[in-house]
Amino acid sequence: MSQNDSTPRFDTLAVRAGNIRSDHGEHSEALFLTSSYVFASAEEAAARFDGSEPGNVYSRYTNPTVRSFEERLAALEGGEKAVATSSGMAAILATVLGLLKAGDEIVTSQSLFGTTNVLFDKYARNFGVSTGFVPLADLAAWEAAITPATKLFFIETPSNPLGELVDIAALAELAHKHGILLAVDNCFCTPAQQLPLALGADLVIHSATKYLDGQGRALGGAVVGSAALIADIVGVVRTCGPAMSPFNAWVFLKGLETLRIRMAAHTQNAQALAQWLEHQAGVVAVHYTGLKSHPQHALACRQQTGFGGVLSFEVAGGREAAWRFINATQLLSITANLGDAKSTITHPGSTTHGRLSPEAKAAARISEGLIRIAVGLEDIEDIKADCARGLAAL
Ligand SMILES: *Cc1c(COP(=O)(O)O)cnc(C)c1O
Repeated sequence: MSQNDSTPRFDTLAVRAGNIRSDHGEHSEALFLTSSYVFASAEEAAARFDGSEPGNVYSRYTNPTVRSFEERLAALEGGEKAVATSSGMAAILATVLGLLKAGDEIVTSQSLFGTTNVLFDKYARNFGVSTGFVPLADLAAWEAAITPATKLFFIETPSNPLGELVDIAALAELAHKHGILLAVDNCFCTPAQQLPLALGADLVIHSATKYLDGQGRALGGAVVGSAALIADIVGVVRTCGPAMSPFNAWVFLKGLETLRIRMAAHTQNAQALAQWLEHQAGVVAVHYTGLKSHPQHALACRQQTGFGGVLSFEVAGGREAAWRFINATQLLSITANLGDAKSTITHPGSTTHGRLSPEAKAAARISEGLIRIAVGLEDIEDIKADCARGLAAL
């Protein structure tokens, strides 16, 4: 370990970073449910509003509980600053609004969370920001897609739901050679298993809704990066209003305390289920970066310290068979969320990726027989037994 002994390590930061203790001396982080703050004088109010004096003003952009969450997440991702948002999609929207203007271009991957695809391809486009879609792992395609207007590369690695990867360090180098920013949606690995900023990325984006909470309770998001970049995104949150609720920030603070331990347990269960599924009749393919059969397993071992809790697999017989599998399960929850202690099962082609055009679906390789399981923390034998019910229904 090259780490200086006085620098707190990940598990310590997860529990301690960003702890703002009030005059009451509370040990657990305080929940500041207040929309505004009282000033001692008109002079103080004016100074807080114009930023010449630090301090809380209004909870759309200054709340101590939200700030605790931002500081803790920034510490875990190894970023200077973080800004919290009302959802993961709000984090992506605030990034687009804060860093791009009409005429700019985004290049992203064909393998992308379906809603992110719609945000870029419909709503950003309506405001004059266009997006090019390339195969995630193909660095030559990324390079070929660059134009003088390209300002942002946006990726998810591992991707949802197929677990495709791109070499973050290589893509960051390509981006920076052309003055382009690289943003990484780190939803699937979390900072417990992958640190994109250390690999050269400029921004990390989160849906806190997923593993940062870990128990399916609250919606939230965040962007982490340098102080200068985050300041531009803070401006959007302050002005346009997609702010994180203090209550949700408090839930996420508690979630972060157990993040690494939960991620390790999710990964252990997902690895066991993926290996078991590989040997079942009726299963045509299993997609999980922890499998030796995964075409980018070596890259996963290099840039991740774990493989996450999400896997997908294909059954023979298309949508009809996939739905029969899903409907035969009794333990797994049929829901599109992931990152919950409860295992969830979904058919991406008709849910998370249902709004994609047939061409975009084909490019993202979302087949009709594809099923995604976000493996939870139940006993692995019970999860396998439930999948056996699904397989029997094929
Ligand atoms: C869920 C998800 C999002 C969107 O987050 P919300 O909190 O639901 O708005 C973005 N990216 C990925 C990879 C996701 O799984």
